Amino acid sequence: MALHEITQHHVLQRCTRCDSDNRAALDSLEVGVARSEDVDDGLVQLPPCPSCRSTEFLIRADEGETAHPAPGSFGHLHRLLVDHLHAELLQRGRLHAALKAKVGTKKLLARALTQEARARWFPQGLRIEVPPGGRRVQPHESSPDTPSAY
Ligand SMILES: [Zn+2]
Repeated sequence: MALHEITQHHVLQRCTRCDSDNRAALDSLEVGVARSEDVDDGLVQLPPCPSCRSTEFLIRADEGETAHPAPGSFGHLHRLLVDHLHAELLQRGRLHAALKAKVGTKKLLARALTQEARARWFPQGLRIEVPPGGRRVQPHESSPDTPSAY
């Protein structure tokens, strides 16, 4: 599921499997995906696609991640949006319950857009106008029961 837009209350995502556009309320999303014994604080689970039930999650860039090789490309803008969404959810206190318990009051890595980055890459608002450049090869094929990362 690629993230295409963040509004004040919603995100717009395009399903990588069936190409349908879905809106999800920000208040329905949270940071943290539980794995067997742990919770990953760098992931945001998206609601299942209403059309094909595919479930996917977004991955925040890690600390020390190298600069994107193609500034302004869909991949670059997508990364910025994902990081910003992650930071926004943290700010709203939208955390997976298990993650809340795990981190307590510790500060999690958040990469909200700076004013400069916002003005430079998203002057018309937090949405991606660049076409993804046709269907790219996905590293993970998604299916309804195996979440894959975009
Ligand atoms: Zn779908």
